[in-house]
Amino acid sequence: MDTTQLDFGGKVVMLKPSFVLPSGDEGMTLATNTHNAVIVGVARALLGKGARRVLVAEHLTVLNARFSFAMVHVKEAVEGIDGVELCYLDEVPMVKAPIEEPFIPGYDIKFPRMLLDGTVDYLVTLPKMKTNSFSSVSLSIKNSFGLISKRDRLKYHGADLDKHLASLHLVRSPDLVIVDAVVAGEGQGPQQTTPVATGLLVAGTNCVAVDAVCCHLMGHDPATVPHVKLLHDRGLGPISLDDIPLQGKDLLESRRRAFTRPDLTLALSPRIRVFQGKDTCRGGCLAMLRSILDGYGMVNGWDSLGDMAIIIGKGVDVPERGLDGLKKRKTIVFGDCAKEYKDRGVFIGGCPPEYLRTATALALRARLGVTQAERTASVGAVLWTSLRHAFHEIFKV
Ligand code: SF4
Repeated sequence: MDTTQLDFGGKVVMLKPSFVLPSGDEGMTLATNTHNAVIVGVARALLGKGARRVLVAEHLTVLNARFSFAMVHVKEAVEGIDGVELCYLDEVPMVKAPIEEPFIPGYDIKFPRMLLDGTVDYLVTLPKMKTNSFSSVSLSIKNSFGLISKRDRLKYHGADLDKHLASLHLVRSPDLVIVDAVVAGEGQGPQQTTPVATGLLVAGTNCVAVDAVCCHLMGHDPATVPHVKLLHDRGLGPISLDDIPLQGKDLLESRRRAFTRPDLTLALSPRIRVFQGKDTCRGGCLAMLRSILDGYGMVNGWDSLGDMAIIIGKGVDVPERGLDGLKKRKTIVFGDCAKEYKDRGVFIGGCPPEYLRTATALALRARLGVTQAERTASVGAVLWTSLRHAFHEIFKV
């Protein structure tokens, strides 16, 4: 890793961890979120290198960013370390991102102004290494998704998700990547991963190369991960281990194993009827619905969902008597592509539907109840952080 260009003396550094699962249950977040110990260790190291300010930053994940920060107790973790500040990206000015030759014509998103106007000297990304139902893997390139608003994340979150991720990388790529793979996650990422202890941090200054090395560690061919391949083909980094100057190759090989990939099947029990269009977007409706259903089925067993039907995706066709015998509330009509069936069940619109709206509709209208992750959310934290966030939005303090 060539760090000769990185001089942190007197500089402002933004750390971007992943708080994808804003839960207070550390057992549940071990293989999903960047561990606080990694954030603290990196912050201390940067201050030791002379950094003037270290900002720990994340945009909203499920609710507002203040809620995520409160649930993962990062404030307590960095308490008393002079020079470390929390930065709620849903409360900072966002500006239209300048971008040349995006992978999506007319690509239009907003980016934190502080990352473009010289306020932040260095962006250090701290992803958790995990598999991801939407994008195959979640590494440094995917971690930049947490720099932009939920609205902009959802804008191209269907068939174009990988092009979205690759385009975002063109706006401002991180200067340094430190991947938390100490306990990584396999299977139903990003939120229902199974822990895999590799005991490693993987670091480098080129996101494409670091993500390729992590893919190798997880037994994935990086050339099969579209957003990594797109950036490689654009000449932004190597993906062959032969082309990546790598320290600790023997250690990497010794910890390598084939991570279980996400399963996107919706017919999870014989009691679930699935009507799915053949072109349903993996990075949109399919992964969104499956990842929320995982919150029920992987904890309580798939039978707990009972008799139900799912109508989803482009070109879906439901036979005349396909829903016979089912109550309307037991039929989930998911995504704008299935809109023509909206009167036949609980319709959750959007392209793709938004996470919180889906979770609420499944909990209340389909009466599936709350998931284990939702149960860990403190009502006090929801109310207090929502109030603080609203206060900031109104008075900008
Ligand atoms: S609504 Fe249709 S186009 Fe949009 S994400 Fe879902 S399947 Fe894809």
